[in-house]
Amino acid sequence: MTTTDADPNEETPTQPAIAPMSSQWHWHPDLPVKYSPYWNWPPKFGALGKWIWTNWLLSDRSIFLLLAFVVAFWMQPVGPEQANLDFGWMALVFIRNWIFLLIVAGGLHHWFYGIDGQGKLLKYDPRPYMKRKNALFKFGYQTWDNIYYSMVFGATSISIFECILRLAYANDFVGTLSFGAHPIWFVLLFPLLALWQSFHFYAVHLFLHQPFIYKHVHSVHHRNVNTGPWSGMSMHPAESLGYTSAVLVLLILPSHPVHMLFLAYWLMIGAASSHSGYEAIWSKDRQALLVGAFFHQLHHRYYECNYGNAEMPWDKWFGTYHDGSDDATKRTRDRKREMHARGRYANPN
Ligand SMILES: [Zn+2]
Ligand SMILES: [Zn+2]
Repeated sequence: MTTTDADPNEETPTQPAIAPMSSQWHWHPDLPVKYSPYWNWPPKFGALGKWIWTNWLLSDRSIFLLLAFVVAFWMQPVGPEQANLDFGWMALVFIRNWIFLLIVAGGLHHWFYGIDGQGKLLKYDPRPYMKRKNALFKFGYQTWDNIYYSMVFGATSISIFECILRLAYANDFVGTLSFGAHPIWFVLLFPLLALWQSFHFYAVHLFLHQPFIYKHVHSVHHRNVNTGPWSGMSMHPAESLGYTSAVLVLLILPSHPVHMLFLAYWLMIGAASSHSGYEAIWSKDRQALLVGAFFHQLHHRYYECNYGNAEMPWDKWFGTYHDGSDDATKRTRDRKREMHARGRYANPN
């Protein structure tokens, strides 16, 4: 068993000796944990090219892109019928999002933890995913609890916002940007929305770690110390709405519905893949698809670090970056201890 941080709400924080990094993780990417190379100065074009290749073309985000195009141009394009609050088209939005999450989170869970598709290959946490009964979770099991929160609140929140945006496009409250008229903006908006989401996530997440909000809202998500695909969207309903509200930026930015769908899938399906607990799907002796986010896995282990993601260095700029090193673990624990001393964390109950 490895050294694991206790929940920050615990009354008496224990500070076990820090085991070396190598024994705390079963597998981790090269350290320090990297940010996207957009922020290097002078620019490193080789690193940029490699990042775009692996993160945009051989990772889960290629699936978000593909799905967004399929839905926006074929399955359910925005049309005049969506100018009204009509049950038919809105039901389709809800049902599709539930099905997408069920397929992706369910599929990943089945591969990693159901049939044990690749054993512990590229798995971050050495401990097994919790399949035992545990009273901490609704229905007594982490997976059933996580499915409940993800389907009832997570996918529902994103569907509510998708319906609002479809109404906005259909009623011309927001202009629809076409590739023909603005090809550069059309393409650039995809990575720009990823950067926007990084900022939005950092800001919302920092707020969620305020003691009162943490205790009543965010602790629902953090019961998952050892995460699985269903943990990603497993949130308190208030957090689900806050987290998925990132798509509302498109009420003020000229865009095409395909951009809205891309961001929606980034938020919903991306949460399932980034919490899968593995770096990548490994099949037929090679890495088939990058899915994990060690950056966020560190947040689930050490809590008071890495509130953002690897797209933008918000944590680095504001002093909460955990780069995966033993030093960073010590710094994070010191900060947490200080927070306890200042009574920042309210006791549970
Ligand atoms: Zn958190
Ligand atoms: Zn998380």
